[in-house]
Amino acid sequence: ETIGANLARTVAAFGEREALVEVPTGRRWTYAGFAADVDRLATGLLEAGLEPGDRLGIWAPNLAEWTLTQYATARIGVILVTINPAYRTEELQYVLNQSGIRTVVAASAFKSSDYEAMLDSVRGECPELQDVVIIGSGAWDALAGTAADAERLDRVSAGLSPEDPINIQYTSGTTGFPKGATLSHRNILNNGFFVGERVNYTEADRVCIPVPFYHCFGMVMGNLACTTHGAAMVIPAPGFGPAETLHAVATERCTSLYGVPTMFIAELGLDDFGSYDLSTLRTGIMAGSPCPEHVMRQVIEQMNMSDVSICYGMTETSPVSLQTTTSDSLDQRVSTVGRVGPHLEVKIVDPGTGEVTPRGEAGELLTLGYSVMTGYWNDPEKTAEAIDAEGWMHTGDIGVMDPDRYVQITGRIKDMVIRGGENIYPREIEEFLYTHPDIIDAQVVGVPDERYGEELMAWIRLREGATAPSAAALREFCSGKIAHYKVPRYVQVIEEFPMTVTGKVRKVDLRNQAMDLLA
Ligand code: ATP
Ligand code: MG
Repeated sequence: ETIGANLARTVAAFGEREALVEVPTGRRWTYAGFAADVDRLATGLLEAGLEPGDRLGIWAPNLAEWTLTQYATARIGVILVTINPAYRTEELQYVLNQSGIRTVVAASAFKSSDYEAMLDSVRGECPELQDVVIIGSGAWDALAGTAADAERLDRVSAGLSPEDPINIQYTSGTTGFPKGATLSHRNILNNGFFVGERVNYTEADRVCIPVPFYHCFGMVMGNLACTTHGAAMVIPAPGFGPAETLHAVATERCTSLYGVPTMFIAELGLDDFGSYDLSTLRTGIMAGSPCPEHVMRQVIEQMNMSDVSICYGMTETSPVSLQTTTSDSLDQRVSTVGRVGPHLEVKIVDPGTGEVTPRGEAGELLTLGYSVMTGYWNDPEKTAEAIDAEGWMHTGDIGVMDPDRYVQITGRIKDMVIRGGENIYPREIEEFLYTHPDIIDAQVVGVPDERYGEELMAWIRLREGATAPSAAALREFCSGKIAHYKVPRYVQVIEEFPMTVTGKVRKVDLRNQAMDLLA
């Protein structure tokens, strides 16, 4: 099935139910109204000369137009390239050219980013770029207001296959340069559906989506999980704001809330946290980076999200491959990322030999099944490094599987520190540092060391008003509680960690800063 065919089925079943709400503007769509607007925009795109397989870039924060564009491009087989709202001209130009974008739909500006000016400035360097349509401009209104040509749309749709690429998403760039994961209808539609299944979505659910649409967390686990179940998509604000998010949950009576751990931390930390009515929440998804146990517990106890689910995945696998379910125990949900999803396989192998490791032993996590991307756009070499001949996606993440097949993610191969021959997974030390009363967040990185090969540096964020512990005091705190070789040698206090827009700490930057400090 294609995404367009799936939406049509949802409209037939739940046409009068709410599909989309944009809280700051108060705009609302029923499924019937949403599909009608999708068809108008899709017809407009066809009339503008776009054809199946062409690339259309979308560069905007979370706006209703983003979602309409997502479904309009899918309807006619145009490949949607999701452009990170935080990009600047260098990255923009790279993405435009790397994926050969013909048309860009963009917000005129957002926060300190003038998208229109940046697009103007790179245009001369992007030979394939023909049209820029600014959301809210006359050109956008004309495109989105085109009279729908149902016959033409159905003719184009009939020529599409679920295996066709429909989406290029650049990875977060946490570990280096973003790569363009190419995803088909089959990849992301199934993933959205099964993610929704695991949190028991029905047409009665209302899902608050503060995570960015440009990333699969927003557009697949958010939007597609909703539209495959007839649930409502609620957009709290064009960029993340903790107060805006809780306001949306309270006023729209949301049943589900998404976030990366840092978003939940910000919401829980609001001065007026207690004033929001979160009583309608029952579930939600926390994913994207390691979810500290204490945050999970607070989300369950203070936000009413007793069925909150943890997901593990990556852009290249559409994204989710492991997920906890509502029937998993609290312990399983706070300490693991759950078990493999339906119709998927995972295995954990020794990165050196490729052999499956014994249960309980760490190794590289590999994923196989419908969710594995078709490849990196125009990059057969990187694709071959990532996906092996049997189709297994090599995630680069380190996992451990317990006897009941629950998986714990203990780090990334790239983040693993080897100190004096011992493999150290920074996550373990970070979890321990959270137990320090003055430390609210910690990141541990390896820095080069003559004697041991690598040494550990802990970057810590302190509770307001706390005084910075010396390296000696922190070592004292660790001593006797974690193995001596895991005790950080250096400590640095930091206000904010360098982050990707998807809410992940850029350890590469911390490592570089650490090396500068020690140089
Ligand atoms: P890049 O590949 O460009 O360096 P990235 O890997 O961060 O960036 P994404 O595809 O957005 O880009 O993120 C996938 C990664 O996020 C996974 O490979 C994993 O390292 C991490 N991750 C996702 N979910 C979880 C989770 N629940 N627990 C721990 N880590 C997670
Ligand atoms: Mg990655």
